[in-house]
Amino acid sequence: MVPGARLVILGRQGAGKGTQCMRLARHYVVPHVSTGDIFRAAVKAGSEFGRRAEEYMVAGQLVPDEIVVGVVRERLCQRDAKARGFILDGFPRTAAQAFALDEMLEEEGMPLDLTIDLEISEEDALSRLAARRVCSTCATIYSTSRRPSIDWTCDNCGGEVVQRQDDTEGAIRKRLADYNELTTPLIDWYERRGTLVRIDAIGTPEEVLVRMVQAVDGRKQA
Ligand SMILES: [Zn+2]
Repeated sequence: MVPGARLVILGRQGAGKGTQCMRLARHYVVPHVSTGDIFRAAVKAGSEFGRRAEEYMVAGQLVPDEIVVGVVRERLCQRDAKARGFILDGFPRTAAQAFALDEMLEEEGMPLDLTIDLEISEEDALSRLAARRVCSTCATIYSTSRRPSIDWTCDNCGGEVVQRQDDTEGAIRKRLADYNELTTPLIDWYERRGTLVRIDAIGTPEEVLVRMVQAVDGRKQA
């Protein structure tokens, strides 16, 4: 069996991060830990940090880093992640969170193997996102160059395939600018820490996956 891996994946919208996280999780047989999902699960399960996070969310306040890290710790200490690793997606978002994550992983004796930044230029991200079309029923993603086989009817479920309202050029530019502002210090932090690798996100999903796996396996053998 393939050895596991402990990875953080970064990448601006349009880099294909969600798809690649799922593929990496399958390849290394580790859970894909998406912070959105684990927050919902922690709140629903009423875990200690889930309950504390919920208080802030109900009040419409930002959940403090300490509690976000607590929710992540609860998930990463479950048996599957402890035994084989994880693909962390959507966290950390700031250098302060990266530092807190690093400390927590050291304490748990499960340090990161690698942080992967899926690189795509702003212009390429903009054109990918502007071409994106989504099934309004099942959320399958298409694009103007990869259409459903019949008009704009979803191949999966027959739903209507549309452009999301927040996929206008102005809104996309704003999201990309916000991402840069938030994430540049985070990427710099991982670079100084020596765990960052940049992977070109242009190519077919298979090509990009091969690049990522080579980087991870190379690091683990070094
Ligand atoms: Zn559909």
